Amino acid sequence: KLIVPDAPTINYISGDGVGQDIFPQAKRLFDVAVEQVYGNHKKIEWHQCFAGQESFEMNGQYLSDETVAEISENLVTLKGPLMTPVGEGFRSLNVTLRQKLDLYACVRPVEYFDGIESPIKNPQNVDITIFRENTEDIYAGIEFASRTPEAQKLIKFISNELQINKIRFPESSAIGVKPVSPEGTKRLVRAAFDEALKKSKQRVTFVHKGNIMKFTEGGFRKWAYEIASDYPTFTKLEFDQIKAKSGIEAAKDAKGLALSEGKIFVDDVIADNFLQQIIIHPENFEIVATLNLNGDYISDALAAEVGGIGIAPGANINFETGHAIFEATHGTAPDIAGQGKANPSSLILSGLMMFDYLGWTEVSKIIKKAMVDAFKEGRCTSDLGGSMSTSEFTDVLISHIQMKP
Ligand code: ATP
Ligand code: MG
Repeated sequence: KLIVPDAPTINYISGDGVGQDIFPQAKRLFDVAVEQVYGNHKKIEWHQCFAGQESFEMNGQYLSDETVAEISENLVTLKGPLMTPVGEGFRSLNVTLRQKLDLYACVRPVEYFDGIESPIKNPQNVDITIFRENTEDIYAGIEFASRTPEAQKLIKFISNELQINKIRFPESSAIGVKPVSPEGTKRLVRAAFDEALKKSKQRVTFVHKGNIMKFTEGGFRKWAYEIASDYPTFTKLEFDQIKAKSGIEAAKDAKGLALSEGKIFVDDVIADNFLQQIIIHPENFEIVATLNLNGDYISDALAAEVGGIGIAPGANINFETGHAIFEATHGTAPDIAGQGKANPSSLILSGLMMFDYLGWTEVSKIIKKAMVDAFKEGRCTSDLGGSMSTSEFTDVLISHIQMKP
């Protein structure tokens, strides 16, 4: 659907802190890889946009209207981490960008590379892509501090008008609102299934706390299953029906048959159980669709299984407009910024997602192969137990890419 010219304009924001260490290195690598694959037939037209500290120094604004306009115009942006200015009244720049472009799907592939130390027993089984809803849930930011007039009004309304005064609900409470809509859920879940089809995945799992939050997280579960029926799936619900009627063996046979027909097995797992399962049986999951807050916890937990945030890529995408921001998922890491030792892998892997998104899959393949080989040889930055600097590690990747015939 996305029409990509031979020289697409890609916005980039280098980012703050370690962004300045890793961005120039990743960009250098991407240009080499594109040239290696396409010669001079295709190339990226990089367009620099300013946000964060760099922008503030130029015009006193952390995120200018001009930058937002550029990002909406060119659809695809690659960015390093941005620091959130300290002080009240500042929203995170990352969150602001996501909201302005309605980037409703946060996509995070988590994959293990041989040679990297992991705290779990079977890390080689970790190959999971998280689709996290990005616009709703308690992240909507509808919160009222304790004892403010707004909180008081809501408390009165809830305890009197809704007559739920049986539960403990002191007037001193702070109040948060958790909106979850069928529309918001369904567009996210559709994106997850489209990815499953595109990548020939066999399993999609919905993660929620519908047992406790019946209408919000339970709603997510219900609406998600409604979308599943639009796709070639065999669901846990169907499995359970067959099991109740004809027994477990019959249900297993039906599942096997469905999978052999290329159908996707769909089930749902309660979030707390899911966090156990990804440690014990990560092989049971391929694509995960979940709400905003669950997605936040799950992303970090999974990243830790494969080497941490220095190697965890991500993208925020609106699959309807085509807008996408590919970004390192870690922060600005002020403790190591400017020392040239940050791991560029998170940003590089985000770039691979970008090349896949553009349909330039050959480019992502050769970079990935270079990374697989480098890690196997034990070459990596200090966060992964190695001793290489940001640029030395990038040099290794570049030489692997250029060695290819
Ligand atoms: P921010 O306020 O911008 O979120 P932070 O202080 O939370 O920054 P993070 O960037 O989230 O810091 O990093 C947390 C830890 O992970 C830090 O110790 C940091 O050095 C480390 N870290 C983050 N990114 C990288 C990277 N690319 N390479 C190596 N270590 C990293
Ligand atoms: Mg942080």
